[in-house]
Amino acid sequence: VTGARLAVGAGTGRLARRPDGLLFVGGRPADERWGRVIDGYLDAEQADDAREVVTSAAVAAGFALEPFVMVAWGQAIELLVLGEIEVRTDLPSVPMLSGATSATWVEHRVARPPATAQLSAGTVPDLGTRLDAGVVAAGGFAVTLAIASPDVPGARPVPREPAPEPDGVDLEMTLRPPGQLTAAGGGLVRARRCGNGHANPPHAAQCRVCGDLIGPASAVETMAQPVLGHVVLPDGAAIPVDRTSVLGRKPDAGTARADPAARLVPLDVSADVSRTHLVIRAEGWAMTATDCGSRGRTVLRPTGAGEPEVLEPWVPHEIAVGDTLYLGGPTQLQVVAS
Ligand SMILES: [Zn+2]
Repeated sequence: VTGARLAVGAGTGRLARRPDGLLFVGGRPADERWGRVIDGYLDAEQADDAREVVTSAAVAAGFALEPFVMVAWGQAIELLVLGEIEVRTDLPSVPMLSGATSATWVEHRVARPPATAQLSAGTVPDLGTRLDAGVVAAGGFAVTLAIASPDVPGARPVPREPAPEPDGVDLEMTLRPPGQLTAAGGGLVRARRCGNGHANPPHAAQCRVCGDLIGPASAVETMAQPVLGHVVLPDGAAIPVDRTSVLGRKPDAGTARADPAARLVPLDVSADVSRTHLVIRAEGWAMTATDCGSRGRTVLRPTGAGEPEVLEPWVPHEIAVGDTLYLGGPTQLQVVAS
């Protein structure tokens, strides 16, 4: 992330801004509880430590405290929400995130954000305001992030000018019920075609297949969920990423907390792999991998120079073509192009 512009909405909550993130606390946060937490959040040197200050306070309070949102932006964008706050974004994999139905906090991580991202919550912000550091009273926020092109060798530069958002697209993304995003398949997505007819996300400035620029005049259409890539299994078979797939030695959709109609992909591998180990989803224009609390864990080795990462159980993690997923040990899955 190369730049962040934060606007403040009026209210009785608190909005704290770090160079690498923000914390918004809704309701009427008492200074006795939140004063020290916000100081700790602002004073922490590393983003991980800042996050730890807030999550520790939430755990210590048994999650019974004012609703809050944390957004961290580094190479990835990370969202964490507790309680009745809705964060709305223009990120295809997470149009809305709310903690309202969870006893603890909910999280979402976007590993490869697009060229710009907008996130907001609470009361409508006054766009004339701007918070560069510190803490203010607030009832909401809107943050616009500018993101540098990924440092993948051979990656095409991201055009500086974001493509104009066609009318209505934002609205549909935001109003779509989140449940529909995790449906097993048959979902519809909004898309625009390049001059060669390839389907692309409505906000894309450049074709994901041929690299041609997509003119703003190109019409937005609704189409069946496109195949976003393939996952190559240990036996060499490839499954398309166009719906929800549950993978493991004896996969079960219920255990995977996935739609009952999900595709089940049994793997004939060693017991390092759990019976229900991993869920791969096509969520609009994003591919995600979710570890199902597997015993041996799942490690994502991203394409390019990125560090391997152990997936946090049950947190969807965006994946991309070129990535490798390790299930509990040597068993690996390759993410390849359509
Ligand atoms: Zn194309």
